[in-house]
Amino acid sequence: MLSYNGYDSRWRNRILRAYHRGEAGPDFTLVGKVCALCGDPDRKATEWHSEDYSEPFLFEPPATYPMCSSCHGRLHKRFDQPVEHWQLFRLHVLGGGYGREFTKLYSKGERDRLAAGLATGEQIALPTIRPRLSTDDWWLDLSLDPESREAAWARPRPLRPRPDTGAFSRTIGALNLSDQDRRILRAHAAASRRSLGMQAIALAVLGGGTAQTANLIYGKLAKKLCQHLQWIPDRREDGSEIWMSVVAEGWQPSPIEGKRRDYEWVMVPSLAAAVEGGAV
Ligand SMILES: [Zn+2]
Repeated sequence: MLSYNGYDSRWRNRILRAYHRGEAGPDFTLVGKVCALCGDPDRKATEWHSEDYSEPFLFEPPATYPMCSSCHGRLHKRFDQPVEHWQLFRLHVLGGGYGREFTKLYSKGERDRLAAGLATGEQIALPTIRPRLSTDDWWLDLSLDPESREAAWARPRPLRPRPDTGAFSRTIGALNLSDQDRRILRAHAAASRRSLGMQAIALAVLGGGTAQTANLIYGKLAKKLCQHLQWIPDRREDGSEIWMSVVAEGWQPSPIEGKRRDYEWVMVPSLAAAVEGGAV
């Protein structure tokens, strides 16, 4: 199975093991639950969908939802076909439709035609089937960017907890950071999706230079923060510390048209909040 929301199968297996250890609690059951997307009262939820596999594991919304198989399938398929198909399904559910009714009401040819209309900016209105009861529209905001499957920025939370905003602010205040260090943190927090490669940081902050130079400077800064915070960093397979892990989570973007892209780091939200809150 492909990655989802920046989690690969290793992370899904971890939460599964936690579930088998009994960490989900007695309320984690599909008995009596309806689909958290369509709310179909006549077809009980049969599976779980997870948006968030980070630690500490959460077995309830907004991390995990009970779903019917129709909605769950559509949700994951949103990347496998033009996004308008998912948009069409959303319109169907917003009109009170249930997941299982979608393909019964709209044939493949009809869906293709409507989706093509949406793609060209046509206003498509689907008939209202019944009043919708659910008010939790978590599924309306799901990413349509296929990159969200692998990207660290798509995770609702970092894989494991980071120091909180207050701790980062106090540490930044206590350390005598150079102007260059401050510029790096500000550029990183301001980047789109807080995701930057070292080459981009070199360009934005050092006015050029290599990714290796930026890596060295940012790595030193991260080590200072990590040690002052007494946070235990991730480690490489050889056991060495990944000091950057206190400030960011790394991920490898897929090549575009065969062209390799730089490894990127996504600044953790608590540090970005400290930077944006004026700590730097
Ligand atoms: Zn459903």
